[in-house]
Amino acid sequence: MAAVTLDGAALARRMREDLQPEVAAFTARAGRPPGLALVLVGDDPASHVYVGSKRTHGAEVGFRVDLHQRPADTSLEEVLALVRDLNAAPDIDGILVQSPLPSAMGADAARRVFETIDPAKDVDGFTAENVGRLVQNREGLVACTPAGIIELLERQGIAIAGKRAVVIGRSDIVGKPMALLLLHRHATVTIAHSRTPDLPAVCREADILVAAIGRAGFVTPDFVKPGAAVIDVGMNAVTSEADVIGFFGADSKRHEAWRKRGSVLMGDVHPAVADVAGALTPVPGGVGPLTIAMLMRNTLTAAERRVR
Ligand code: NAP
Repeated sequence: MAAVTLDGAALARRMREDLQPEVAAFTARAGRPPGLALVLVGDDPASHVYVGSKRTHGAEVGFRVDLHQRPADTSLEEVLALVRDLNAAPDIDGILVQSPLPSAMGADAARRVFETIDPAKDVDGFTAENVGRLVQNREGLVACTPAGIIELLERQGIAIAGKRAVVIGRSDIVGKPMALLLLHRHATVTIAHSRTPDLPAVCREADILVAAIGRAGFVTPDFVKPGAAVIDVGMNAVTSEADVIGFFGADSKRHEAWRKRGSVLMGDVHPAVADVAGALTPVPGGVGPLTIAMLMRNTLTAAERRVR
């Protein structure tokens, strides 16, 4: 039986619609809209696409969205100075510095930026203070991708409490916060990674399997317990025609798309998993739109906390 498709794009639309009256009420009360500052350094094409979406959706829900675009040779000190200015700006409630930063800024650039963002404006939920609050299950701003996944599971009526959850990936922005959010909702959680022996067997224990790896089609049906909910966080550009045909077939829409663009987007989950899983997020149209909707929610939350 084919898995139910968990339509993240539709849920994200509803979440934005739900936000609009709340944003309007905030604007009436505060005498200004919630303010979101987006900082984009360099010319990574994917980052430009993500920031463009964040800007469009922010404006659509009624935010003021300021885009601060800087060339790839901007120094880390200049970015930190911009972040400090935004920390001090009274009408800015949320600051998002798009990752990845140019590699020339150094290996610890992202950490230095996150150390500088005011935790009250940290709408990505990446500062040490907000991560610490998450660990302790206290009020804070939570990383958008895992928070969006919880919203999806809850709104789809997928039980978390008492279930076995496996998160593949232990990054600070997805894997670890995802595991904590599931833990706080009383799942029994395993975090798997590149050193986990017999990964398919570990994953087959999961009622909820979250794949946040960054390897196209890595999670095959032998990783999946029949009926499990599978959440595909991966966003991978597949450029090899042989791979596209191998994953989707020669007569597929993806192959047609590859012929036009030379690349297709796919997740970490192999398409054949749809025959085993009970529910599955598509890529695109699953976790990605939810991440942006949660960014909007976090910005409004930050704004409300700052003016109350
Ligand atoms: P990351 O920092 O590179 O982390 C990847 C994780 O996968 C690491 O913990 C790594 O293990 C693990 N891994 C790699 N190869 C593995 C293997 N063979 N077996 C088991 N685990 C393995 O990536 P990330 O930032 O978390 O992102 C993961 C994916 O999600 C990427 O495709 C990214 O583009 C996507 N993403 C999507 C959204 C969205 O909005 N949809 C948001 C964020 C990220 P080790 O720690 O042992 O190296």
